[in-house]
Amino acid sequence: MRQTRHSLTRRHFLATGATALLGAGVSARPAAAWAGSAPTPESEVDAGPMVMALTFDDGPSPQYTLQVLDVLYDHGVRATFFVCGDNVGRYPDVVRRIVAEGHVLGNHTWSHPHLDGLSAADVRDQIQRTQDAVTTVGGRAPVLFRAPYGDFTDTALTVCADLGLRPISWSVDPTDWANPGADTIVERVLAGAATGAIVLNHDGTEGGDDDPAPGSGGDRSQTVAALTSYLPQLIDAGFTFTTPDAHPRPLP
Ligand SMILES: [Zn+2]
Repeated sequence: MRQTRHSLTRRHFLATGATALLGAGVSARPAAAWAGSAPTPESEVDAGPMVMALTFDDGPSPQYTLQVLDVLYDHGVRATFFVCGDNVGRYPDVVRRIVAEGHVLGNHTWSHPHLDGLSAADVRDQIQRTQDAVTTVGGRAPVLFRAPYGDFTDTALTVCADLGLRPISWSVDPTDWANPGADTIVERVLAGAATGAIVLNHDGTEGGDDDPAPGSGGDRSQTVAALTSYLPQLIDAGFTFTTPDAHPRPLP
């Protein structure tokens, strides 16, 4: 575990070039201390009291991502979008708007498969292709990864280590993709709101419009309606919002 945490932090520094932090009290570790160890998924963000993170998966979508961006813009909130490479190629203008408005792009594989059903080579291809697509369209390589369905397999975590990706899970899952009703999504998010919480939302349709999430029909309107309601409530309660890339997991 100790080596894993070193790996995460060190690799994050390398990926972001945040060398100033290394010189500000955090010791640089020799490569041998972390090389070869795979990171573990992070389900919370360590960014101080009353700070949370909003995440949106399976996009970008030319319809719902733009609506989500409008709501975030209205409230001056930055979020993380875990995109599928397949959708990045389809909707590059949406990707560019995500970046232009200060949000963060994460890697959510190319076509949203169950990683535990793929060969090691195919898992690596899913992640690497998406890394390349986001880098080309978004202008920088992602440093965050989320496995579809939360299937953070050993192979996926090894690829994360190789590519300098931090695996990001979540602590609040309102199951918005199943369309339980906007009010229910709001209740679930507000109930889970806490310091360090990472909220899982869905702005897109996994794997593209021809492969909607089971039972959802690809409709994310409840996600947008819920966000419009719970975001100002969380702000009024004193919460602020960040993105996990800005807060490396601390050394133990
Ligand atoms: Zn997903």
